[in-house]
Amino acid sequence: MVGTMIAYRLAEAGVRVTLVESAFAGSGSTGAAMGHIVVMDDSPEQLALCAHSRARWDELAATLPPSGEHEHAGTLWLATSDAELAGATARVAGYQRAGIDACVVNDVELYRLEPSVRRGLAGALRVPGDAVCYPPAIARSLAERVMALGGALLRRSVASLAAHRVALDDGSIVTADAIVVAAGVSSPSLVAGLPIVPRKGHLVITDRHPGLVHHQLVELGYLHSAHTFSGASVAFNVQPRRTGQLLIGSSRELVGYDATFNHDLVGQMLDRATHFVPAIAQVRAVRSWIGFRPATPDKLPLIGRWPAEEGLWIAAGHEGLGITMATGTADLIVAGLLERTPPVDPERFRPDRVMPAMERVA
Ligand SMILES: Cc1cc2nc3c(=O)[nH]c(=O)nc-3n(C[C@H](O)[C@H](O)[C@H](O)COP(=O)(O)OP(=O)(O)OC[C@H]3O[C@@H](n4cnc5c(N)ncnc54)[C@H](O)[C@@H]3O)c2cc1C
Repeated sequence: MVGTMIAYRLAEAGVRVTLVESAFAGSGSTGAAMGHIVVMDDSPEQLALCAHSRARWDELAATLPPSGEHEHAGTLWLATSDAELAGATARVAGYQRAGIDACVVNDVELYRLEPSVRRGLAGALRVPGDAVCYPPAIARSLAERVMALGGALLRRSVASLAAHRVALDDGSIVTADAIVVAAGVSSPSLVAGLPIVPRKGHLVITDRHPGLVHHQLVELGYLHSAHTFSGASVAFNVQPRRTGQLLIGSSRELVGYDATFNHDLVGQMLDRATHFVPAIAQVRAVRSWIGFRPATPDKLPLIGRWPAEEGLWIAAGHEGLGITMATGTADLIVAGLLERTPPVDPERFRPDRVMPAMERVA
């Protein structure tokens, strides 16, 4: 998603672009993602980039094909206790300062909005402007736009990079004024020293039950799961698809590229889902898969110039927010390359910033 979005925005700005993709647009983490376009507020920088990115998704949405399934489902962050609800209340002002509509709803309002949610919750943080989408279809449509704007798509693997030179796996060389590496979890194999590790996640999709859930439902405890950077964790996260299916998440594991299906963790995920929406117990799961999020130690993506090599730019390491942040990332790269005013302060996203130590992967 990140690479095709950047290529599209550059082509749109009149730059001659060559997109090099070893598989197909929308493979990689993008094809495994949930497609929740969500404003998160773990840090002021994350909030600023998410807020800008979501607004840019809204602009793009009208031009997306129906297969992109972009819809403003909104997010309900479920509070299991009064303490969690109080914590959510404290965050509303921060959202509003960033121009994001958000409010706290009590239990009565929560059950009016989502009758299937289990009774006994305290309420929820509601972010109505968040959206859901189908990422692989959008990435493909962006690649098609790049070609329609005169860009090229090379279905080849990049073997190595040097200043202004890309060596492909067939031995050919592509030269360019600027090279943007947007290879997700694979980016460190092309640029040594990039602090990105794979963070594995499982998802489950069900058969069709239209109307069971209307919003993206996430437990507030998800923030803790997403923020901590060790061990295995599970948090309730359910998304209604346009097809009537439910997409159920999510897990986080640091196990390198071990793609083994973790039945125990998926079992915990489904237990959590039925705990929050008991009717899910009656719904049939039809498919489950894993993907790898490109994680950085400080939870922010790497966006900007890579000083060790002339003409080299990085746009990677978005972990669980790469679909959301793809639009803002593209704007930052376009602004950097074309020396325009950036939409948010790029400093905290510099790929060469000082990082906390990377956790050892077992
Ligand atoms: C289970 C799960 C759920 C998620 N849910 C969400 C969500 O709801 N919302 C959200 O915002 N984000 C979500 N994410 C995160 C999101 O999927 C990623 O952050 C995002 O897809 C990263 O996009 P990318 O373009 O950087 O990487 P990728 O999508 O991995 O793209 C990299 C591309 O580079 C290509 N490539 C790699 N190496 C080479 C090479 N040597 N030569 C040529 N091409 C190469 C690959 O083929 C691939 O197409 C989720 C991720 C997972 C795993």
